[in-house]
Amino acid sequence: MTTLVPFDEALARYAPVLGIETHIELGTASKMFCGCPTEFGGAPNTHVCPVCLGMPGSLPVVNEKAIEYAIRIGLALNCSIADWCRFARKNYFYPDMPKDFQISQYDEPICFDGYLDVEVEGETYRIGIERAHLEEDTGKSTHVGGATGRIHGASHSLVDYNRAGIPLIEIVTKPIEATGEMAPLVARAYATELRELVRALGASDVRMEEGSMRCDVNVSLMPKDASEWGTRTETKNVNSLRSVERSVRHEIERQAAVLDAGQAVLQETRHFHENTGTTSPGRSKSDAQDYRYFPEPDLVPVAPARAWVEEIRAALPELPAARRVRVKAAWSLSDEELRDVINAGALDLIEETITAGASPAAARKWWMNELSRTATAQGVELSALPVTAGQVARIQALVDAGELNDKLARKVFEGVLAGEGTPDEVVAARGLKVVSDEGELVAIVDKVIADNADAAQKVRDGKVAAAGALVGAVMKASRGQADAARAREIILERLGQS
Ligand code: ZN
Ligand code: MN
Repeated sequence: MTTLVPFDEALARYAPVLGIETHIELGTASKMFCGCPTEFGGAPNTHVCPVCLGMPGSLPVVNEKAIEYAIRIGLALNCSIADWCRFARKNYFYPDMPKDFQISQYDEPICFDGYLDVEVEGETYRIGIERAHLEEDTGKSTHVGGATGRIHGASHSLVDYNRAGIPLIEIVTKPIEATGEMAPLVARAYATELRELVRALGASDVRMEEGSMRCDVNVSLMPKDASEWGTRTETKNVNSLRSVERSVRHEIERQAAVLDAGQAVLQETRHFHENTGTTSPGRSKSDAQDYRYFPEPDLVPVAPARAWVEEIRAALPELPAARRVRVKAAWSLSDEELRDVINAGALDLIEETITAGASPAAARKWWMNELSRTATAQGVELSALPVTAGQVARIQALVDAGELNDKLARKVFEGVLAGEGTPDEVVAARGLKVVSDEGELVAIVDKVIADNADAAQKVRDGKVAAAGALVGAVMKASRGQADAARAREIILERLGQS
């Protein structure tokens, strides 16, 4: 049972220092050093060859696209790009490492010394980037027979090498200091911004739940008046943004209790548990391996031409921070409205709807109200709803043309989402059109007046408010398809009140 110090109390006495190492699988078609496919989810050990299985005599060749993606990410992180760098062997034994070493980069990373600005509650934090280097992913072990899925208590283990050799970029921050009580939120904001950035660059699908982005979160505490950092722990493979925040919070509360008791924080790796929001010890650094790094003799150095680097820089897309500034102004949004749009995953969808012809206000209205509600009710992502941005724009165009009112438009959405076809097909099949034929509307009004003699007489006698009941009857008779304002005008005309 671990004692914890309440977060606010811990922060009153200690200052946290963070460091985040993020592994991201690059979205190349083939692996880092061989031609095997990188697709997620193949049958175990079907995406393998002698190179990624580490067979004697096989030789790796660097994937050029992975180098390009790494440079693209490095430039977007304001890094310098090495003129010349090498891969290194990181030697350690693990069953999911078929070569008994990982090809990585050590003292010569391809990208170094950059930064990423992140915003938390209106304040900007500049997160220094120490380095971003290339390496290969490991295979995946499955421990069978135990209760926890961990190796302890398992009867045997299975290993799948499909993931072995998939290109990874590892992005390492400089120590993140002076964030105080904001530390958990700053860590989360950094992971969020990094994910958005890499996604915008098209360099990875950055799906944390599939493991294509995972964070190792380092936390240490020092007494507020101290000048030397405390001992850090490293919580490994944190695989959601929320967990990044929670793991920092928990380590602050736990380490404060250890320090308060006059004990030393152990330098170790730790596991994060989603169900409890707590961490538990992994490897202690006392038995940490000496990796015996040395330059990989089977690969030539990588020396990206300056002209190529500049070509990649010139082709960088609009980055998320710049996009937020542009969208906020162009759509006239408040900070909160923009944040809601981003959190709803609606930014791309609204932008595509605007490109397809809708106004920013109309596009935002449909995605953030009607469609967000539907997505929430169905428990799916907004982007997974079976309606396209073009269809939303088409429905809004019908509203703008006076052929649909809002109520009918919602019925069209209902039909499109139910798979009844395009907006125009749903309008035709369900007969959903505003009654725009004046003669037809007059006929409905006359029938309503005849059927509601009492209300009609009240209007004739000057009680104009009684017209409301007649308008309601017209809307009912037209199944909501009449133009209510025009119906009211006609009713008043027919009853001598216009
Ligand atoms: Zn291979
Ligand atoms: Mn690594």
